[in-house]
Amino acid sequence: MVLVTTDLMSAKNIGIVGGGLMGMTLAHKLAADGHRVTVIEHADRTGGLTTWHDFDGVIWDRFYHVILPSDQNLIGLLDELGMKDDLQWRRTYTGFYVDEKLHSISSNVEFLKFPLLSLISKVRLGFTMLYASRINNWKALENTTCEQWLRRVSGNENVEKLWKPLLLAKLGPSYKRVSAVFIWSYIKRMFSARDKSASAEHLGHVKGGYQSIMSRMEAVITGNGGTILTNNAVREVVTTESGISVSCDSEDLVFDHVICTSPVNVLQKIIPASLLSVDTVQSDRGVEYLGVVCVVLVTKKPITRYYVVNIADETIPFTGVIGMSNVVDTENTSGKNLTYLPRYLLSTDEEISKSDEYFKEAFVDGIKRMFPDFDESDIIGVHVNRAIKVQPLQVLGYSELVPGVQTKDPRLHVLNTSQFVNATLNNNEVVGAVNKFYTDFRQRAAGSE
Ligand SMILES: Cc1cc2nc3c(=O)[nH]c(=O)nc-3n(C[C@H](O)[C@H](O)[C@H](O)COP(=O)(O)OP(=O)(O)OC[C@H]3O[C@@H](n4cnc5c(N)ncnc54)[C@H](O)[C@@H]3O)c2cc1C
Repeated sequence: MVLVTTDLMSAKNIGIVGGGLMGMTLAHKLAADGHRVTVIEHADRTGGLTTWHDFDGVIWDRFYHVILPSDQNLIGLLDELGMKDDLQWRRTYTGFYVDEKLHSISSNVEFLKFPLLSLISKVRLGFTMLYASRINNWKALENTTCEQWLRRVSGNENVEKLWKPLLLAKLGPSYKRVSAVFIWSYIKRMFSARDKSASAEHLGHVKGGYQSIMSRMEAVITGNGGTILTNNAVREVVTTESGISVSCDSEDLVFDHVICTSPVNVLQKIIPASLLSVDTVQSDRGVEYLGVVCVVLVTKKPITRYYVVNIADETIPFTGVIGMSNVVDTENTSGKNLTYLPRYLLSTDEEISKSDEYFKEAFVDGIKRMFPDFDESDIIGVHVNRAIKVQPLQVLGYSELVPGVQTKDPRLHVLNTSQFVNATLNNNEVVGAVNKFYTDFRQRAAGSE
């Protein structure tokens, strides 16, 4: 069982808005430290973007998630939860689809044989990876666009044939407004998935997926005296002399401290603008988000041998093919294969709300074009999931737009993924942000005693 270390006198009554991984990890840490925590979650269950979905009798993550061997914060959390032994690793392969052909780029030799690029461009690409991995001063990249930086470091041929199609796939036409910090942090993370000795990629997952992590966290939090309220949206947060009052669907609650983990658009609705460290309402530049539409094909046979196929072809309606069954053994999924097909769109793009039928038809057609041998009778089910506020768009000067952790009231805090100003959106960063918050919170509490 987790140790309770805070004495009763200094234990605080803490409200946490949002029961995604951020809110649940915060609750776990603070409850284990002796605080009285209450998680308030809008949805009917915890998990947020890591929640699960019933894919024709197979319960798995609604959106695809993998763990990298370098995800030390996340692996540390699993260890604390007694789940490290549930981690399973697989050697994985990466494909690249361009000019109606699928290429494997899973090893250095395959990459050297990749026909799309000249030898000079391949050398420049290798240099880009190495150069990016050595950069520490990310601030210096914040006012240069991705494209400008890539043209300078990687050369025009790499930009036209490789980077631009990939940026379009990941960010849509908005890529033109995104800073070089995005591509720098992306390269850094992707290359940390390669085993240093073998240059081979390894990816992992936890037995039972994120559903099992969330149920374990729920048990540990409630075991340490915490409360989890689901189906309960927070409508307003008001600071008063006696505490922070949170008005949610079921009741009004008062806490010593409140931590909001919801996205910026929700903060704008529930917290008075005057309390946030940046003006998120009056400013003509706010945090913009990408959303995702993710079609999942449940099939009798695997569609591809790759975990990820990157797509450099604007006529294919999705931006990648994620062969989840190449990471998660089909023993875990009743012999069925799951393939996720994401399409990222600005959250304000009207296409995101088109019908499920529209996406099913277009995406199955795209799969048939990419894999001419694909037999439609192999399909057991097609599922369409979407999320509107997923990934903040790291535009030029992004770090200045983001609300800080501390608000103007020392009892009210913001901790959300918009604050990842020099990292990609991933769960290792989520746990890292919680760890940092927790350490600072303890230090401040010790200082005020
Ligand atoms: C398609 C996709 C693929 C991904 N792949 C990976 C991967 O392979 N590896 C990886 O590490 N990460 C991956 N991620 C990222 C990962 O899912 C996120 O890092 C993580 O889920 C963020 O958690 P969070 O708690 O910060 O946010 P969220 O999960 O968005 O949680 C916020 C919570 O706040 C709740 N909320 C909002 N408003 C209110 C309100 N007013 N009152 C109460 N509650 C409210 C929401 O319902 C939600 O549950 C992926 C994400 C997506 C979408």
